[in-house]
Amino acid sequence: MAFPPAFLDELTARNPIEDVVGQYVTLRRSGGNLFGLCPFHGEKTASFSVAPDKGIYYCFGCHKGGGVINFQMEIEGLSYPDAVRALAKRVGMTVPDDEQYQSRYRQQERLWALHKEAARFFHSQLYAPGGAKALEYALGRGMPKATLTTFGIGYAPNTWDSLVKAMRAKGYTDQELIDSGLVTVAKKNGNIFDRFRDRLMFPIIDVRGNVIGFGGRIMNNDDPNAAKYLNSPETIIFNKRKNLFALNLAKKSKLGYLILVEGYMDAIALHQYGFDCAVASLGTSLTEEHATLLTRYTDQVVLIYDGDEAGQRASARAIPILEKAGLQIRVLKMKDAKDPDEYLKKFGADAFKVLLEDASNRVEYQINAIRRKYDLREDNQRVEFITECAKLIATLPSSIQREIYGRRVAEEGKITYEAMEAEVKKVWKKRQNREKKAEEKRILEPARTTQPKSRTLRYDNVKSARAEESLIAQAMKEPALLDLTEALKPEEFSVPLFSRVYAQMRSRHEAHLAVTMATLEELSAEEASHLALVINSQSGPVNEQAFLDCVRTIQSQHRKANVTTEDDLMAMRKKMQERKGMKL
Ligand SMILES: [Zn+2]
Repeated sequence: MAFPPAFLDELTARNPIEDVVGQYVTLRRSGGNLFGLCPFHGEKTASFSVAPDKGIYYCFGCHKGGGVINFQMEIEGLSYPDAVRALAKRVGMTVPDDEQYQSRYRQQERLWALHKEAARFFHSQLYAPGGAKALEYALGRGMPKATLTTFGIGYAPNTWDSLVKAMRAKGYTDQELIDSGLVTVAKKNGNIFDRFRDRLMFPIIDVRGNVIGFGGRIMNNDDPNAAKYLNSPETIIFNKRKNLFALNLAKKSKLGYLILVEGYMDAIALHQYGFDCAVASLGTSLTEEHATLLTRYTDQVVLIYDGDEAGQRASARAIPILEKAGLQIRVLKMKDAKDPDEYLKKFGADAFKVLLEDASNRVEYQINAIRRKYDLREDNQRVEFITECAKLIATLPSSIQREIYGRRVAEEGKITYEAMEAEVKKVWKKRQNREKKAEEKRILEPARTTQPKSRTLRYDNVKSARAEESLIAQAMKEPALLDLTEALKPEEFSVPLFSRVYAQMRSRHEAHLAVTMATLEELSAEEASHLALVINSQSGPVNEQAFLDCVRTIQSQHRKANVTTEDDLMAMRKKMQERKGMKL
């Protein structure tokens, strides 16, 4: 993924991190740094920081961090090359030709085009003689022709190669068809055949308007082994953890909130009845990526999952994920209908609106969930119910909320409100103390004395790792220090990430290129965050002596580690010889 280094230099120089972040976050200056509310997690006090001199951002709340390209990737959900392209576009730069990158992009473009052709093909099949049954079914399910057009719904014929033939005729190769996931390869002879057969087809369209996959509903229910819904597999253009059905339409809604449902049909029915803000997860449970995607378009989500047990479990799982992303949640429960589709057909849009308006909020939903766990006729279970509710109520930020729900629980638990209030206060105080302590600990203990958050980045040799951290942070601030490292080899680093980073920094410095966080390549989001933390912790002037100390520590630790290994080998050999000697 190599963009020419000189191009990246200019790109990052022309995209100061504070300007790019400033498009999404209101930043206030405090000393040399800027602070604002983190765009990646919900918060009321600013723990998101930008250090313009270091070219990095870092959030002390959710620990996300990195350079300007990492920020662009994270906030827009882009890949590295796409983030670079977006930043280039922002300042009117032309992205130079890069073969590897160009070929991957071309491959994506071919797959988008192929999917679009496939969607057209499926849609036309709905009106072909073979699609009569499917069309009848769709109309019977209350989807008029206008809806079928809006959503591009189609039909995959009940044959083995209709799509294969149609796409070959359009000039797509078998390899492209395999890459698209729209065909399956026979193990026996390597022939390809249509993955979707005799199914009503729902195109999945990303927020940029590209068809990236399909969901297919079975038409013939005779085969008990066939899945009711079949989705496209993951491909280079389709990731179901990152996409939601109908978000391409819902993002344009003027309703100000988004409705999250389980099924394609539910989302479509809601759109038809005027709730054009409905989206559906693609047959997976809700992920953090989904939640982050939603935050780009709204801060309010109405959650509607099916009334059955599986639906309720899914909804209980989704709530904390949505909350963590900072979304306000309302949970809507279907009464006398199993899902929104059925409800709308039975009772109409107005009844649904009423339901929506008094949709119980998160607190009520959670209290209900707690209540279901206990038998309130039993004294000891009632105590547990009250204690657990007190814990929940103590987390509410508003005193009015605490009183309202406190009174309700007191009533149900058959205790006085005063007793309930005392219980809530007790829990609340405990929490405050705990948070205060954690905060103090955070301030007293510089971040760099702790192990990295991510398990994959654990330090094996903490002493060497500290020196490596410090060396990189200092050199990032004053690249001229890299002139002093001629004798230090990347292999001598104990942490693979730092070794890679050091190698890149040195080769850039030797080529007289800028050494900045933003110009480092091939970092995962995790690695970028950790590196940003390390660089951020560097404060005060850098100093040659301290820098050389780091070099020495890294080298001596490396020697020690190797000597130890050799010593161990010697000892082992000796033992073996002794044992052999004994046997003889
Ligand atoms: Zn954050």
